[in-house]
Amino acid sequence: MKFNTKTIHGGQQHDPAYGSVMPPIYQTSTYAQSTPGKHKGYEYSRTHNPTRNALENALASIENGNFGLAFGSGLAAIDAVIKLLQPGDEVISTNDLYGGTYRLFTSIFKKFGIVFHFVGMNNASQIETYITKKTKLIWVETPTNPMMNIIDIKATAKIAQQHKVLFAVDNTFATPYLQQPLDLGADIVMHSATKYLGGHSDLVMGALIVKDKELANRLYYIQNASGAVCGPQDSFLALRGIKTLHVRMQRHCENGKAVAAFLANHPKIEKVYWPGFESHPNHNIAKEQMNDFGGMISFTTKGNNYENAIKIVESLKLFTLAESLGGVESLVGHPASMTHASIPKEEREKIGVVDSLIRLSVGIEDKDDLIADLAQAIGN
Ligand SMILES: *Cc1c(COP(=O)(O)O)cnc(C)c1O
Repeated sequence: MKFNTKTIHGGQQHDPAYGSVMPPIYQTSTYAQSTPGKHKGYEYSRTHNPTRNALENALASIENGNFGLAFGSGLAAIDAVIKLLQPGDEVISTNDLYGGTYRLFTSIFKKFGIVFHFVGMNNASQIETYITKKTKLIWVETPTNPMMNIIDIKATAKIAQQHKVLFAVDNTFATPYLQQPLDLGADIVMHSATKYLGGHSDLVMGALIVKDKELANRLYYIQNASGAVCGPQDSFLALRGIKTLHVRMQRHCENGKAVAAFLANHPKIEKVYWPGFESHPNHNIAKEQMNDFGGMISFTTKGNNYENAIKIVESLKLFTLAESLGGVESLVGHPASMTHASIPKEEREKIGVVDSLIRLSVGIEDKDDLIADLAQAIGN
């Protein structure tokens, strides 16, 4: 099955009871047993729920994995991965990272004795200098948030395999429409399904997808034991979102390309961060591992003025000023004061999150309207 078919049919079957084409929302916490321990495969909805299972099968299919796990949020999914580790274990992570992931690593797991190294990975060989006998996990986001750095998944997988270290990729920005990390050698794919997979800004959810059965079983154990699962209603919505992922992504990419070109030619714009530009430092890797370049774009204004950036984000009308990304509607964010406010100023400036940096999640509206909105907000 090809990708555009998988988003609709992958891992799905018509409901055995009445043939409903979409899975019913099994809004139940528990399931009747005829005698203790005898049931129809479902005991309690933290452990299993048929609507969640339908979603988990779809997730496995679209990422070319064998097992999918759905969680109550993206961070809950990451939390489950880190719980594979023991005190003293070391993690090598991208330094340009979703702010909430950084906070989870440094303010929750650090105190349980997990050691995190935040490393610039524009050249994958930089990872190797941090590997010790205690390294158990490499954590990568690509494209990164919000600097749109591209990390070579294949080269990183090779390093991870050589050193027998688990390798996880946060595929939230790219989605499996653009890149499929398991095929490139990653062990775990993670999603904030809140973003492109759900696609309609109407739910919060996380996902993990793996190929290896033993790893899947360890993660299912944590999912059930820690209990950060999503409910059946949200599972249904995410499943509905996934069915149009390919058509939405096609338009996100088309609009993203047009907006990036408009910004790059604007006299008041200093820098535009988008992996589709030939001038992007890792454009060739992006071309190699991605099918297209997506609708996430960051830019800075000339003079790097904080107040000016705030004025631009306030003046936009079609781009809503809000956290999050990946929905059908265009959003704009100011990382330094929003998503990345939990990263100390000194740390965030080191990676390029300066005061004038603005991040766009380009939606699927008409691109001419989006460009006109940016033109009036930036001024000339
Ligand atoms: C939003 C996001 C997360 C966290 O996901 P939640 O669903 O908000 O918990 C993790 N990684 C990336 C890249 C994100 O954009």
